[in-house]
Amino acid sequence: MAIDSHIRYLGNDTFEDIALLDAYPLPDFCPVCKKSINPEFILIYFKFNGHQELLCSCPDNKCKSLFFAVYKECPSETSEYSLDHFTPLSREEKLFPDEIYPLSPDFIEIYNQAYVAEQEKLNLICGVGYRKALEYLIKDFALKQSPEDIEKIKRMPLQQCLKKFITDPKIKAMAERAIWLGNDETHYVRKWKSKDLKDLKNLIELTVYFISITFKVSKYSEEMFLD
Ligand SMILES: [Zn+2]
Repeated sequence: MAIDSHIRYLGNDTFEDIALLDAYPLPDFCPVCKKSINPEFILIYFKFNGHQELLCSCPDNKCKSLFFAVYKECPSETSEYSLDHFTPLSREEKLFPDEIYPLSPDFIEIYNQAYVAEQEKLNLICGVGYRKALEYLIKDFALKQSPEDIEKIKRMPLQQCLKKFITDPKIKAMAERAIWLGNDETHYVRKWKSKDLKDLKNLIELTVYFISITFKVSKYSEEMFLD
């Protein structure tokens, strides 16, 4: 069947078009530029099995992107269709405190690759990426504290490295738990059944937070003192 027979072109603001769009929860933001918008609606593609794609255009002058709002039929709900996702998916980047970027660019890179995987719903593998990012963060921080031990730190298992080279009790406590949960992501049997990816990310975030605090504290302590 020609694809045209599955497409309904919109944009004339006819009564039929407006009534048709009424059945869809319409997007009120652009997935590309993330701004709040009233999109223009170009066409509906009736795909198959109640899957439908609404082609929208972002009116923002700097963006002007086209994107699809993808719908699935939901017979039990009041609205006829539910908004499932957008394509293209605009991926968010996780931002960290300023001190972390020069400390461990590898951590930032790996964490954000894992975050992309998570946004693509690759839930089963992104945890391994977060675990790897954590290893770079801890080891780079250990290297900053003890640069003379570079070879030891590089070769040492992460948990040992944390015990031996990280002295701050808060960083140690949070990072240790992050390692436990991170290891769960790589092992066949989970040890911490009541914890999940969200907890792992929270613990990494707390580790990052306490590391950035130590940098801030030493910056002001070095810059400001009375003789
Ligand atoms: Zn936009």
